[in-house]
Amino acid sequence: MKSPKPSRAELAEQKRQVRFITQNLEATYGIPHNDRPDNPLDELIGTILSQSTTNINSSRAFASLRQRFPDWDAARQARPASIAAAIKSGGLAKTKSVVIKNVLEEILARCGNYDLSFLRTVPLAEAKAFLTSLKGVGPKTAACVLLFSCDRPVFPMDTHIFRILRRVGLVPEKYSDEQAHELMESLLPPKKHYSLHINLIRHGRLICRPQNPKCSECSLIEHCAFGQTSL
Ligand code: SF4
Repeated sequence: MKSPKPSRAELAEQKRQVRFITQNLEATYGIPHNDRPDNPLDELIGTILSQSTTNINSSRAFASLRQRFPDWDAARQARPASIAAAIKSGGLAKTKSVVIKNVLEEILARCGNYDLSFLRTVPLAEAKAFLTSLKGVGPKTAACVLLFSCDRPVFPMDTHIFRILRRVGLVPEKYSDEQAHELMESLLPPKKHYSLHINLIRHGRLICRPQNPKCSECSLIEHCAFGQTSL
């Protein structure tokens, strides 16, 4: 479904609201810096492993995978069952092992090696298209790789982020992940994608929780439709 186009005045107001939220969260939690591992392929495999599990479990699965297969070519040549055994602590090991093997095979076939550093410099649409064309890699995984390991201006959605943006009234209830993602990319000030992503997740864990959000303690109340109604 194509999102309805906002008027110029609505767009200006939405941008103002995003600036307000970004600045307030930075004043509350600080400005996060991106010190994640800088290898895009590591990030891609790590993001696949992080699906439907906790950070702790997916980090364990990633470490175990690297220990079992110190280079990615060895993992590509392995049977899915061997990959699954190495990543079992991350859950959904059977499915994820097949995705990982396919991704490694496709990357080698198309690039001739496992170096994805070109994703940092090719046009953003091309980088997204490359990643999402890999079987089992969706827009959210692609956005994580591009933001965290390539420092590109993309904005992965997360359940905390989705909830807060809906409550403050920026993202309509019916919007899909992809529509919300597209909307936010059009509203964010340059170079604030990482900061807002990280700070919204912090805010969602500490204040704007799924149940009983602490609206009376929230620095976003001034711009939050849900908070103002509930107080
Ligand atoms: S005012 Fe309440 S609902 Fe709105 S962002 Fe803050 S905690 Fe969430």
